Formats: sequence, structure tokens, C-alpha cells
Amino acid sequence: MSLAEQALSYVRAISPYQPGKPITELAREMGIPVDSIVKLASNENPLGMSPKARAAVEKAISGVERYPDQFDLIAKVAGRVGVAQSQVVLGNGSNDVLDLIARVFLAPGRSAVFAQHAFAVYPLATLSTGAELIATPAKNYGHDLAAMRAAIRPDTRIVWIANPNNPTGNFLPYADVRAFLESVPKEVIVVLDEAYNEYIPPAERVDTAGWLKEFPNLVICRTFSKIYGLAGLRVGYALASVEVADLMNRVRQPFNVNNLALAGALAALDDHDFLNASYELNRYGMVQIVAALERLKLEYIPSYGNFVTFRAGDGAAVNQKLLKQGVIVRPIGGYGLPEWLRVTIGTERENARFIEALEKAL
Ligand SMILES: *Cc1c(COP(=O)(O)O)cnc(C)c1O
Repeated sequence: MSLAEQALSYVRAISPYQPGKPITELAREMGIPVDSIVKLASNENPLGMSPKARAAVEKAISGVERYPDQFDLIAKVAGRVGVAQSQVVLGNGSNDVLDLIARVFLAPGRSAVFAQHAFAVYPLATLSTGAELIATPAKNYGHDLAAMRAAIRPDTRIVWIANPNNPTGNFLPYADVRAFLESVPKEVIVVLDEAYNEYIPPAERVDTAGWLKEFPNLVICRTFSKIYGLAGLRVGYALASVEVADLMNRVRQPFNVNNLALAGALAALDDHDFLNASYELNRYGMVQIVAALERLKLEYIPSYGNFVTFRAGDGAAVNQKLLKQGVIVRPIGGYGLPEWLRVTIGTERENARFIEALEKAL
């Protein structure tokens, strides 16, 4: 008898998440010094963390003997986005929040809809509950909302949408997302994952939180891991109707976000200089990398995030050649895109290292 045989069959069927290769791992594997490795694999902020967040985290270290209190961060987020505090659910990263939603609404005998090439955590969150995953074919590498609407069955309880999507960077016009919300049955939760929201040009950004008044089945997810530069602290949040937020809080671990993460996130929200610098650096870096891809005649998917996905040919082989040169990007064969690689926009110097290594690798 193996213990695996005793496990839930749907848990045994899950394929594990493949994270971006850590710098320390590549250093161990190839004997490359840590300092000369460029990691552009996990959509982290190349400027590091906000200085205000750093100061707040350092201060919060004295106090870790106490259990955390989420009140201040919830109040700040609620005030910032214009919802009630009872509509904010904090997560240990927004991954945690995705899991909470799945646990509230999914179980064996139920289903969730997601799009081909969409974020890998949606399958994980869905399958870990024993629910069935319905994948709809992509349209131009992004979500095909009409196909997703048509795929909803009577047992469907969640539709997962990433906007912009990771790993493809596609962006759905807000009007289309709204029309989708209007079209879905009211008992189906629509998760709108906006992890890259802050990278959308402000002139194009729409206040989706305002839609919660009309759509109690909408759940918006955001994170401090990307533009706020706090990926390692693990903090994100969901905005939902009071009813849904209450349900999510019932399955949430009471102390799921630690003291340091709460303090860092609270301060990061007010570090406008850092956020502006991060936004601008991304814009310039995107131009720098896209220009190189065009020069190298490589197809790429126009991206609204802090990364861009391009067709490398043999993705795995090009990736290996990049790794040998100390450059870590993200192969996305697991997303059904084996010819493509995803590169995170870095600093000007990091981008230049990537471009130089890519030219040699091709
Ligand atoms: C990075 C990312 C997240 C955020 O993950 P965290 O758990 O908050 O670090 C969520 N959704 C998408 C689509 C992402 O790319």
C-alpha cells in the first residue's frame, strides 16, 4: 500500500506549479556567481521594494511576537478603492485569495471555466477542490470571452479571468469584460484577476471596483507582488460583495498575512514616487525589449504587463542557452506555448544583458 493511493484522486492528478528558477539554484547548477545572474522570470519589480515599505518592515520587526492585526491595511485598501472594509479580503499573496474563492464555491460535481494559456494558479485552485476544469481555446493567445460564456454549464460556479493575462500579456477591453459580467448567470462567480492593474496606462484604466455595486458575483484580485515590489512578503487582496467576502473570510486562516507584510503593504500604497518610477521604468524597458524583438524578427504578443512573451522557436533550447549565459527567463511550455518564452521587463542594464544573450542564443 502506498500513501499516495490513500490520497484524493483529484489531488494526485494535479501537476505541480513550476516557479521561475531561483537565482541561487542557477548559481548552484552552473557555478555562475549570484551577482552576475539576471533573473527576468517571475515578473518581479526590478527596482526592488519601495523604500517606504522597507522602512516600515524594519520598524515592524519589533512586534513580531504579537499576532498580526489586518485592520489598518484593510481600511487603507478599502478607502483607496472606494469599497466598504467588509468587502476587502486579504491574502498571503493573491494566490491565497484565489484558493479561498475556490474553496468557497467549488467541490466535486462542480466546474470552473478558464481560458487556455491563462494563469496556472486557476487550474491548481480548481483541481485542488475536486471540481472539473473547463478550458476554452484562446483567441489571439488571450481569453475568448464568447467561448467562455458558452462553456458555462449549470454546474459551473467560477469563471477565472486574468486582465492583463499572464503569461501572454493580453488585455481585454473593459467594455468586453463588463458585457461578459452582464451576460453570465448571477450564480456564477467571475474572478477578475488584476495582478498587473497598475501597469495599465492610467488613461486607459477603468475603476472595476465600482462595478461591485452592480455585480455581487464579481471578485477582483490584486497583489502587492508586482509593481509594489513585495513578492517575497506574500500579500494580496480580493474585493468582493459583502456576502462573498464574508464567506471567503470563513475559510481564510485568521492570521494569513504576517505583520511584516501588512506593514510593508500599508507603506507601499503611499509610496507614489516609487510606484511612478516603477511604472516609467517598465514603459521604457518594454520599448527597449520590444525594439530588440522586432530587430531580431521575433514574433511577440503585445503586453500590458511588466513582461512580454515572444516566439523563440525551440523555447526549451533557447532557454538553456540563456541560462548558460546567466539569464533566467520563463519557459511556458506548461502553458501550451512550448515555442515561446516570457521575459520580465528589468532595468535598462538587465534588459540589455537579456538582449545580448538572446542574440547569441538564437
Ligand atoms: C503574479 C500574479 C499573481 C499574484 O501572485 P501573488 O500570489 O500575489 O504573488 C496573480 N495573478 C496573476 C495573473 C499573476 O501573474
